[in-house]
Amino acid sequence: MKPLLLCTDLDRTLIPNGPQPESPAAMDRFRRLVGCGDVTLAYVTGRHRALIEQAIEDYGLPLPDFAIADVGSTLYQVDSRGWKQRDQWDEQIAPDWRGLSHDQLHALLSGFSVLALQEREKQNRHKLSFYVPLNANVQELIGDMNVQLQQAGIKANLIWSIDELAGTGLLDILPASANKLHAIHFLMQQQGFSHENTVFSGDSGNDLDVLLSDIPAVLVANADDEVKSQAAKAHQETLYLARGDYLGMNGNYSAGILEGVAHYRPDIDAWLREQN
Ligand SMILES: [Mg+2]
Repeated sequence: MKPLLLCTDLDRTLIPNGPQPESPAAMDRFRRLVGCGDVTLAYVTGRHRALIEQAIEDYGLPLPDFAIADVGSTLYQVDSRGWKQRDQWDEQIAPDWRGLSHDQLHALLSGFSVLALQEREKQNRHKLSFYVPLNANVQELIGDMNVQLQQAGIKANLIWSIDELAGTGLLDILPASANKLHAIHFLMQQQGFSHENTVFSGDSGNDLDVLLSDIPAVLVANADDEVKSQAAKAHQETLYLARGDYLGMNGNYSAGILEGVAHYRPDIDAWLREQN
């Protein structure tokens, strides 16, 4: 088998934590494929390191070779000795924040009294995360913060989301160029992978920039309908929609990833069929 860089989202892509069922044989096949020695596995996720490790334990996921964590703001190299943060990625995205540290950027935004800093493990060198009460005027807040950041010459992405369970708003501030797509390109370049030997898999809106890029990608069958309809407009040469019926599996989660990899790579398709 020729080498493959397999980059995958975790929640509801590799991790079967959506409402749809997982095919019983799928995860075992996935583990065997990534354990064969020719696959470099990268997890690409919004999760921070501790939550990735938790998922590996809870769902018996294989240990990856790399993890692009914190929505693309952190890159780890992983092996049996542990997790090592790759400083080269931080150097790459640091200019967006004009070299300011996490704490310096926090100080710059200290005038916004509505922002409450999240716990230490949810922060990273290039991820500054706050809680915001749901009754706050978020549009105005983000507008004012953007003005202040621009005046300081800082290029940042402000990402707003809601934690329904905790009943709170979440606001992440990242360097503008820290995203999944840019991080995957960086990893490909660093590890010497081209478009011919890279595949990405995802399921939802935060995967769209990679799904719609020129990187060969697969959308798992359990993806949201909204994402499926967006994906239908993509280039068919670089986006495969898993539909099931591959080796008797349903196309959800890891089954969809395998189906997509087999679509792009006849050598791996043959290998997977031989394993049966
Ligand atoms: Mg997902």
